[in-house]
Amino acid sequence: MSLAEEMDTVTDVAAGSVERHATSSTFESTAPATGAVVGMFPVHDPDAVAETVTQAFAAAELWAGLGFDGRRQRLDAYRGYLARRLHELADLVHRENGKPHADAILEISLAIDHLAWAAGHARKALGPRRVRAGLLAANHAAYLEYQPLGVIGVIGPWNYPVFTPMGSIAYALAAGNAVVFKPSEYTPAIGAWLAAAWRAAVPDAADAFQVVTGFGDTGAALCRAGVGKIAFTGSAPTGRKVMATCAETLTPVLMELGGKDAMIVDDDADVVAAADAAVWGAMSNGGQTCIGVERVYATAAVYDRFVAEVTAQVRELRPGSDDEATYGPMTMPSQIDVVRRHVTDAASAGARVITGGTDPDAFPGEGYVAPTVLLDVPEDSAAIREETFGPTLTITKVRDAEEALQRANDTSYGLAGSIFSGSKSKALDLARRMRSGMTSINSVLTFASVPALPFGGVGDSGFGRIHGEDGLKEFTRAKAITRQRFALPTNPMSFRRPANTADQLARIIGMVHGRHR
Ligand code: NAD
Repeated sequence: MSLAEEMDTVTDVAAGSVERHATSSTFESTAPATGAVVGMFPVHDPDAVAETVTQAFAAAELWAGLGFDGRRQRLDAYRGYLARRLHELADLVHRENGKPHADAILEISLAIDHLAWAAGHARKALGPRRVRAGLLAANHAAYLEYQPLGVIGVIGPWNYPVFTPMGSIAYALAAGNAVVFKPSEYTPAIGAWLAAAWRAAVPDAADAFQVVTGFGDTGAALCRAGVGKIAFTGSAPTGRKVMATCAETLTPVLMELGGKDAMIVDDDADVVAAADAAVWGAMSNGGQTCIGVERVYATAAVYDRFVAEVTAQVRELRPGSDDEATYGPMTMPSQIDVVRRHVTDAASAGARVITGGTDPDAFPGEGYVAPTVLLDVPEDSAAIREETFGPTLTITKVRDAEEALQRANDTSYGLAGSIFSGSKSKALDLARRMRSGMTSINSVLTFASVPALPFGGVGDSGFGRIHGEDGLKEFTRAKAITRQRFALPTNPMSFRRPANTADQLARIIGMVHGRHR
């Protein structure tokens, strides 16, 4: 298909999904590798966002009314539609985000698997159930269920433009909500494609998933539009702004923010496997991964071997936009300056740059950053403390795994991390004490591909969870119901209770609980 034909396809898709609401201006999305226009999209203003959300609320009633089975059937149809068009979507992701086609396929495959899990497990996680009424309400039946919030506003980033928002969209829909999604201004065509695919696959609930496009102001308008919750994925500074805007209307928020994830390589680790995982974790997607490996702490016993292995593997990498390239260009051009600043600062503070770096030679072309490995980086430098979000890796020698853990935890972020160790019990102990929402042992990023596991961070990495049962519950409110089955001879919660009721109650409580010391 020629570029012109491809653009027509994307524009058609956009027309079907995002141009239904009047707006005064538009913006272009361009391919980071070539600068070619991918599509033209409306800048949805507050009125257009409000109109979309109103439609979504109407759709939400219908969608919730379908029940778990009706929703599952339609979510299954959506995943089938996506699976049949996997290559078409991967082409668009490759063009608009820049990542290699193969990585786009991996990303979309993960998203489809999460869709299947969310649809298949919603009833069990959220459906009505009886719970034990307990001692004080033994004459009652107690019921618990998790009800949808109505409309969820999803604000997404550009780095995993399918997988990341789908972690909220799939779980919010499965829980019975409608969704209005504001994709990143760098990847609006992908967002529009996802919504158009929904309309095609689920025509009888088309408005249950809609897209609005634009910049930060459009996202802020979504925060103010009266949605039941905002699921935000992006940087910590923007997250703070989103929370402040949501505070105006007491709209609850889920915050999936940045990270500065560390890998610990212990004395008895498989060094070659650890190096392979570190290089993939740091450099794939051009390092533009919230759960990417940015720091490694390797014990003195393995440090030299690990550095040699990483160096050898990194030399095999080649950024580019062709099919053989190992990773693509930086999707957001301004991120190149951040990466350059971190590398330059580290080098001037005494770090050794063993591959890549800031030389013009090391930046292989406009929009690309060479894979960069830094040794001996001072712990107070930006390359250790701030999210770099580029294909860089710092490797630091430590005495032992305890020192590695202490340094890994010494950050304001706490998204994920990894541990390479030959000892299962030691690795599990370290993983439990790692201050992060997720940790993988002897691999990297694996938790993201396990739908049953919740995904989210602590500290500056945010709060709340997508994925798993927690991710389904995140988009609901718990509803508690009791039903009196029979009346007791005396009701302690009545003004007509006998005078000795409280004494009797105190005696029972003393018998049941008083023996515990
Ligand atoms: P960003 O914070 O610049 O933008 C994210 C989204 O917020 C975009 O859609 C943007 O238009 C919107 N936005 C900007 N200003 C806004 C405002 N005032 N009100 C409402 N919305 C506003 O982030 P980015 O550059 O698109 O993405 C990269 C960041 O996302 C990195 O920090 C990365 O670590 C993080 N991220 C986190 C996760 C996770 O799951 N924790 C996943 C992917 C990316």
